[in-house]
Amino acid sequence: MPKRGLDGIKEEYDCIVIGSGLGGLTCANRLAKNGWRILALEHHIHLGGLAAWFRRKKHVFDVALHGFPVGMIKTCRKYWSKEIASQITQLKGIRFDNPQFQLETTYDRADFTRLLIEKFGIKAETVDRFFHTTANMNFFDDDGRSIRDLFQEFFPGREDVWRLLMEPITYANGSTLEDPAITYGIVFSNFMSHGVYTFPVRTDIIIKMMEEELYKNGVDIRVKTLVEKIVFENGRVAGVIANGKMVRSKTVVSNSGLKATALELVSDGDISEEFREKTNKVRVNTSSCQVYFGIREGINVDYIGDLIFTSTAEKFDTDQMLSKNVTSRTYSVYYSDPEKGRATASIVASSNARYEDWADLPEEEYIGQKKRLAEETFKSLSKYVPNIREIVDHVEVSTPRTFKRYTLHEGGASFGTKFEGLEISKRLPEEAPGLFHTGSVAIIMSGWLGAANYGVIVANEVDKLLRKKSEAK
Ligand SMILES: Cc1cc2nc3c(=O)[nH]c(=O)nc-3n(C[C@H](O)[C@H](O)[C@H](O)COP(=O)(O)OP(=O)(O)OC[C@H]3O[C@@H](n4cnc5c(N)ncnc54)[C@H](O)[C@@H]3O)c2cc1C
Repeated sequence: MPKRGLDGIKEEYDCIVIGSGLGGLTCANRLAKNGWRILALEHHIHLGGLAAWFRRKKHVFDVALHGFPVGMIKTCRKYWSKEIASQITQLKGIRFDNPQFQLETTYDRADFTRLLIEKFGIKAETVDRFFHTTANMNFFDDDGRSIRDLFQEFFPGREDVWRLLMEPITYANGSTLEDPAITYGIVFSNFMSHGVYTFPVRTDIIIKMMEEELYKNGVDIRVKTLVEKIVFENGRVAGVIANGKMVRSKTVVSNSGLKATALELVSDGDISEEFREKTNKVRVNTSSCQVYFGIREGINVDYIGDLIFTSTAEKFDTDQMLSKNVTSRTYSVYYSDPEKGRATASIVASSNARYEDWADLPEEEYIGQKKRLAEETFKSLSKYVPNIREIVDHVEVSTPRTFKRYTLHEGGASFGTKFEGLEISKRLPEEAPGLFHTGSVAIIMSGWLGAANYGVIVANEVDKLLRKKSEAK
């Protein structure tokens, strides 16, 4: 178990990592493997950030893992361990159920090609060109096109096809049709290359394996430790103030939210006014509501798929997807499997949500709205699991307020910032020497895979700086 608080810490570290999301943890692990003295600080009692779980009775609920692209296997093998990588498997039963179509897919290029041609009547040549275009999109080629422009070019007026292509991505990361086409192309192609993958074992087991790896590599980890300020001396990072105490360090990586890092943890005079203004304009992504259903021990759910994208809305409509009057839900079904640590089955219903719809509700109304959400979800879920009310022994609701409370993220954002956040995140070390940011920004650096990969990229930058500093001595 990580220690709580700062007792017995060192005089100085090479790098302090603020926050233990996948970006922060992967960055800390990589730097520690290179021999640097690392301190990782987390305000919550658990590591993992949004890669979270919680226990109730015999249930352990996974919060934020429904699926990621195959690239996570390589990332885990290279930057964590073979053992962690070997836990990952493909998720095959992905279902869609909405007024425009019902289908089951393995969510990869071959199966989507088949569906687009046979079920949606799109010409093979158009499908091929679409895949070719999205697969060749990269971060350096932003031509200003929006996702709507992209769909309009390939599938004009075919809102059913737009829904098939877009709904899972919107569920996953809050993208809208107005976001840059490259963010869609990169995320979609990552999934299409080989389908959707997951850790079938519980999230707490994976995070525990990562924790052991961090200890093995010498990372000093402290939980229940809130970083209040990043301290600068002579224009360079000198450490942080955490739980009211100064801890010295040559560099700092913040895995806290981008805006919180630049606008709250850094004091006014330590970065330029121009940079603060630009950071202020960065938009954060939306948040989520979830309803967790724990199934009584000894009862398994009959197979209904692994991931079910459901909607009762007539058409794909992001505004409606974010509304408090939920019409769209994704069900993640975790069948009971003691070998994977799943003593009981559980179902997690997720829907996109706006923080402002929940933020200021008086307590009584807040509780009432949560009850309403649970009741409506029961009704919706009974279409797929008719006896759900009889087999459930625990129901719990989380809202954007819950995500804000546990991660401190502005608006309880599930996926960091919109695209413009990436430039700010990357420019931070020029503005505030010795300070780096990692974690969810710009959709492409978000999610389990994006955040972990960004952690590696930032670790390489920190490593370069630390080497330069030690050579200069
Ligand atoms: C409902 C939901 C479903 C999701 N589903 C998927 C999915 O299926 N697939 C997928 O790939 N991704 C999914 N995600 C997104 C994914 O979980 C995140 O993008 C990723 O885990 C974020 O990692 P991160 O590095 O940005 O850090 P975060 O997880 O955001 O963690 C940041 C950490 O910093 C800590 N912190 C912040 N400020 C301070 C401070 N001042 N002092 C100390 N600690 C601090 C926080 O407590 C937190 O632990 C989902 C997210 C949600 C909410």
